[in-house]
Amino acid sequence: MSNDTDNKPSRTELVDFWKRKITYLRVSLTNRCNFRCKYCYGNPDLKIPKDDRLPNEYLIRLIEITAFLGINKIRFTGGEPLLRRDIIDLIANVSSIEGIKSIGITTNGYYLAKYLPDLATAGLSNVNISLDTLNKDTFKAITGVDGFEKVYLAIELAEQSGYFPLVKVNTVVMRSINDMEMPRFTEWALKRKIDLRFIEFMPTADSGWGKNLFVGEDEMREKIRLNLEADPESGDNIGPARRYRYKDYPGRISFISAVSHNFCDSCNRLRLTANGDLIGCLFGRGKLSLGNMMKKGLNNIDIMERIFEAVGDPEFKGIRGGFFAREHKPLMRSVGG
Ligand code: SAM
Repeated sequence: MSNDTDNKPSRTELVDFWKRKITYLRVSLTNRCNFRCKYCYGNPDLKIPKDDRLPNEYLIRLIEITAFLGINKIRFTGGEPLLRRDIIDLIANVSSIEGIKSIGITTNGYYLAKYLPDLATAGLSNVNISLDTLNKDTFKAITGVDGFEKVYLAIELAEQSGYFPLVKVNTVVMRSINDMEMPRFTEWALKRKIDLRFIEFMPTADSGWGKNLFVGEDEMREKIRLNLEADPESGDNIGPARRYRYKDYPGRISFISAVSHNFCDSCNRLRLTANGDLIGCLFGRGKLSLGNMMKKGLNNIDIMERIFEAVGDPEFKGIRGGFFAREHKPLMRSVGG
C-alpha cells in the first residue's frame, strides 16, 4: 500500500452495527453529466455544485485503504464517469489492487463505444448502461439529448463484444412516460445477452418525483404479463436486484424496488461522492470527509480507523425502514446513483 506506516494493522473486515458485512464501494467520479435526465435534473435552472473531483492518485489510495478493510467490489459512477478521460488509467490501477475482484461502471453510454476496448483491457469486469426507452423521441424528452442511436449502438457493441457475460441495462420506470414500453422492452432484452433492470423511481432531490409518476414492482410485473422464473444463477453479483429468466431466452429481467421492497437488511455498500465524502446510506445524512483528510495529510492508518469508526456508527450506516419516513434526500448526480 502506498503511504503506509510501519505498524501496519492486519487485514480486517468492515462490519456495521447491524452486523452487515461491507464489501462494496460505489465511487462517483464527477458530478458533471452530459445528459439532463428529468429524474436527476428536475429543475434545469438549478446551479450544479462545483466539481471538486478527487484526482486518481487520491482515489487509488482510498480504494487501497478500503480493499485492506475488505472491500472487494468497486463501481464507478457519477455524474457521468466517462467524462473523466483518466478513467482508463484509474481502472488499470484499481484492477491491480490486492483484494479487488470486480470493477464496474454505470454510464449513460454516450461515450462508451469509443472507450470500450480500452476499458475492458484495463480490467473492467461489468458495465451498466442507462436506457429508459427504445423510442428516439422519448429518449430526447427524458435525457434532453438527441443520443438514442449512440447509446443503443454502445449497448449492442458491449453485448456482442464478449467482454461481459451479460450487459446490464438500467431503466427507471415512469408512468405514462415509458411504462407502456415494458412488454416490448422485455422482449428486446430477453432475446439478447442483456439483464434489463426495471428500477422503481425514487424520491431523490431534484428528481421531479411525484406519486403520479411512480410504478411499483407489482404493477410492473402485471404490465409485462410473462411467467418469469427466479434466476437460479443470480449469485451474489447482482446486489439489490431480483433477477428472473424466461424459458430458454438468454436475457434476464430484474427489478430494483427500493421503494416497495426495501433491501436495507442486506445492504453491503458504501459510497464515495465526487468530492471525497464517504456516505453510509443513500438516504442518510452522515458523511465522512475522506477527501479533506487526504488533503490534510492524514496517514492510511488514521484514515482506516476513521472509516472503521464511521461504519460501526448506527447513525452513519443506518438501517431505516419506511422509505418516505426518511428526512434526507440525496442528489443522485452528486452522490452517484
Ligand atoms: N450517468 C450515469 C448513468 O446515466 O447511468 C451514472 C449516474 S446515474 C445517477 C446512475 C443511475 O441512477 C442511473 O441508472 C439512473 O437511472 C439512476 N437514477 C437516477 N435518479 C434516479 C431516481 N430518482 N430513481 C431511480 N433511479 C435513479
